[in-house]
Amino acid sequence: MTFVEDQAVVLKRKNKKMDPTLDSKLVSQPVDVKNRKKDDDDQGSNKAKKRYVLVSFKELPEYMKDNEFLLNYYRANWSLKEALFSIFRWHNETLNVWTHFLGFVLFLGLTMTNLMEVPQIVDLITFLTRSFPISGDTNVSQDSEDLFLGTANLIDLKRITTPELDVNLPVTPVTRWPFYVFLGGSMFCLLSSSICHLFSCHSHHLNLTLLRIDYTGITTMIITSFFPPIYYIFQCDPKWHFVYLGGITSLGLFTIITLLSPTLSTSKFRAFRALIFSSMGLFGIVPGIHAAIVNWSNPRRNITLAYESAMAIFYLTGTMFYVSRIPERLKPGWFDLAGHSHQIFHILVVMGALAHYGASLVFLEWRDRNGC
Ligand SMILES: [Zn+2]
Repeated sequence: MTFVEDQAVVLKRKNKKMDPTLDSKLVSQPVDVKNRKKDDDDQGSNKAKKRYVLVSFKELPEYMKDNEFLLNYYRANWSLKEALFSIFRWHNETLNVWTHFLGFVLFLGLTMTNLMEVPQIVDLITFLTRSFPISGDTNVSQDSEDLFLGTANLIDLKRITTPELDVNLPVTPVTRWPFYVFLGGSMFCLLSSSICHLFSCHSHHLNLTLLRIDYTGITTMIITSFFPPIYYIFQCDPKWHFVYLGGITSLGLFTIITLLSPTLSTSKFRAFRALIFSSMGLFGIVPGIHAAIVNWSNPRRNITLAYESAMAIFYLTGTMFYVSRIPERLKPGWFDLAGHSHQIFHILVVMGALAHYGASLVFLEWRDRNGC
């Protein structure tokens, strides 16, 4: 059914009435609008509600036909108000909205915690500079202890700067802006994604606009993820900031401009989008190898490598789910509400961002102690 035909069906039904109990039933089950009984007809007061039923893939307007393996529980052409309140209803986007909204809340909490912790770090470092003597090199066992403590203290920056972690004297806290650029980029991506999933059922125009914002959010998250590692690793040789951060930002702007084309937002270009985002991520291999060579003897190399490898595995696995549309491809209709590929992809994106956050804390702590 085309979009125009679909609208015609909706208009045609405006004169028909509706079973008052139907709306509550519709919250949990899809309704085949074509086969609805004639005795659904009722007073005009329920006419408006009639549009807010969950429909099947076949009944969707063309612009919403994205994943043919999700058969039911779709919202289509809902008002903004109904779309907003549908965050508390079960449909096939509910978990897509919540996974990234909760991810946003998590990163907002981490940002607030770090903003509040900074003065205490300054105090602690001042205290440490007076209290602890300089001593020798760290070793491999120190590495694993660092990783363990770093993981356990991901939220608490104050604890990560406790004296048992390192023996070198802290110099002065480094600037935090690259770290907050990453946190800001992650929050923008997660929030724009959840807004996109919540409201893209409203209209074709809004759907396109929100998809563009969503892709811009993903690109922004990829670009901003480069800021903490590149800035802190090459802090003493800033020309590399311009090379790598300039390079990834240009690549990101090119991506955003390319994905403004409505055609590239369609399901046909799913693999192309994944490829372009993955390429941006893989750009990180170049400064990664460079950094590993420059810091080969740094004991923190293994810790950050572990975090960043975890991030890469989360993101690449997520991309594989996004492109392959497994598991719904194997059992169409079984994963409409929970467990489909996009939800798995969302969760893996949050986990990848968390792993990168862990790596960023290690970079910060290292630079706080080792200025240029
Ligand atoms: Zn999404």
